[in-house]
Amino acid sequence: MNVPIAQLLLQEDPPEYGRADQVSPLVRRIVADNPSRFTYHGTGTFIVGPTGGDVAIIDPGPDDEAHVAALLAAVDGQTVTHILITHTHPDHSPATTAVKAATGATTYGFGPHPEAAIKAHEERIRRATEAGEDPESDDGEGGGDIDFVPDIAVADTDIVAGEGFTFECLHTPGHISNHLCFALAEEQTLFTGDHVMGWSTTVIPAPDGDLADYMDGLERLVGRSETTYRPTHGPAITDPIPFVTALLAHRRHRENQIVAALTDGPRTVAALVADIYADVDEKLHKAAGASVFAHLLALHRRGRATADPGPDPEAEWAIA
Ligand SMILES: [Zn+2]
Repeated sequence: MNVPIAQLLLQEDPPEYGRADQVSPLVRRIVADNPSRFTYHGTGTFIVGPTGGDVAIIDPGPDDEAHVAALLAAVDGQTVTHILITHTHPDHSPATTAVKAATGATTYGFGPHPEAAIKAHEERIRRATEAGEDPESDDGEGGGDIDFVPDIAVADTDIVAGEGFTFECLHTPGHISNHLCFALAEEQTLFTGDHVMGWSTTVIPAPDGDLADYMDGLERLVGRSETTYRPTHGPAITDPIPFVTALLAHRRHRENQIVAALTDGPRTVAALVADIYADVDEKLHKAAGASVFAHLLALHRRGRATADPGPDPEAEWAIA
């Protein structure tokens, strides 16, 4: 009785940038003016805490003066005690520096931007430059906030609490190895960052991104009790378990298609994309290739696929 994920994806109208909207008794959201095909209408920064009391800020957002000013205006007269970072992509953490300087809040995150992601980003820029392409053109999720270091490095299941709010930190690698979700106990709400988004499936950029980890992270959510998800991008998900179940089914279906195609003989990523995405606009084939490669790497890491000469996008892939 699974509903396809395409039927469950959610849209919302563009927000008024810089305006703090009260979205629940404890939560306000301000969206940064950084819309793109990776960020939807922009980065949603959350302010969590009782009216007039202490607050936490989740993901201050991109290095954008207007967004930081709006955020600081929204918390004027309150004490920001905590800044929580879901991960170190450039649309999530860079404004932490300015917000911390202005508020003196303590920052919490899993850790710095991962080394593998830094190397892969440098490699993509090198290749694009060699090919005469704009090095930033396809890089919305590749770059990173390499300067970020949390004051407090949190681990899975750690509790971070302030006056009037209590978060459980969940380590959810997959999109990036330092990704965290934050469960707000007072409202049965999970702040999902880019792990689960209502408007889109999540990009799993190799090699730091890991689809097997990502699937494990989704399966774990199915067993939890939060009733609302608030992603960084796009609207809240108010019936999250069917949504997560559909995400899992979507990925499993894609994996089955890849395994079936490889059963007919070894294939490259490009050949698999041509097979599986035959009815999809060719402009999307590059993104499809990244997704197929993420699946192949996950199969390879589990010993179910081989790659000749090695596990890279140009290889010949076969069933192990
Ligand atoms: Zn991200």
